[in-house]
Amino acid sequence: MKTIRTELEAREVHGCVLVPTMGALHEGHAALLRQAARRAAGDRPVVATIFVNPTQFNESTDFERYPRDLDRDLAVAATAGASAVFAPDVATVYPPDAPVPVPPLPLVATQPGLEDRHRPGHFAGVAQVVARLLDLLRPSAAVFGEKDWQQLQLVRAMVRDAAAATPDRWPDLEILTGATIRESDGLAMSSRNRLLSEEARHAARGIPRALQLAHSAQHPPTAERLMRETLEAHGLEVEYAVVRDAETLLPIGDFRSPTRGLIAARVGGVRLIDNQPMTVWR
Ligand code: AMP
Repeated sequence: MKTIRTELEAREVHGCVLVPTMGALHEGHAALLRQAARRAAGDRPVVATIFVNPTQFNESTDFERYPRDLDRDLAVAATAGASAVFAPDVATVYPPDAPVPVPPLPLVATQPGLEDRHRPGHFAGVAQVVARLLDLLRPSAAVFGEKDWQQLQLVRAMVRDAAAATPDRWPDLEILTGATIRESDGLAMSSRNRLLSEEARHAARGIPRALQLAHSAQHPPTAERLMRETLEAHGLEVEYAVVRDAETLLPIGDFRSPTRGLIAARVGGVRLIDNQPMTVWR
């Protein structure tokens, strides 16, 4: 497995199957890489990017204490089937003499009042870095996790909009999705879990528990009440606990089409997000 750092080296892996990450790799990232390797089928490079993108952090302390461990990440990526890791420095992604534009944000990144409201500026940074990485690496496919559900919808919409407006930019780019990988007690794996104290880690189990309890509720208000009560009973500070249309992430009146339960909550100074499909009742 190679480590590449420059724009020139990135050209050698054009056409790859890409897994963008911010590092501190865990089994969730490894699963996305294995999926990428299956898709690549030995014919295309499998590339993980490791870049803690400064423009998507709306809190500077969150950026500073984000876990970084490149040596360990390289070992995890190699074991999971990566043929290269692209670990650029900030000046490669954001050249000081050539501003990197923020693509137009699709409605799903501005309207729902979820991550867009609680992390102002976050999705502008995500769209900017994803577009820049796609321009640098020109992958044939890119894999994103369901764990960041609103981000996944943003990427899908951005790529769809770009295909309509500028068909030559990322021709035939395929967006693949990976299911959320969880710890044995249900907590979604996250690089931020490393920052949890033992007590906070215990409380965090309230998040998958809340989603599980809401899963078979018959009415959206019942699902939302169950989630909020469960989170609060675990001592979690709720940012949002809602059920929404799975694609637009706008509010829904019933469970007759695909919906998603989505949670953001804080514990011990760490912000955690998770989501799960709700039962469809027809
Ligand atoms: P991150 O490094 O947190 O920016 O995440 C990089 C990619 O890994 C994103 O597409 C995430 O949605 C995905 N991801 C993060 N956690 C998980 C998980 N527990 N299971 C599957 N994919 C994940």
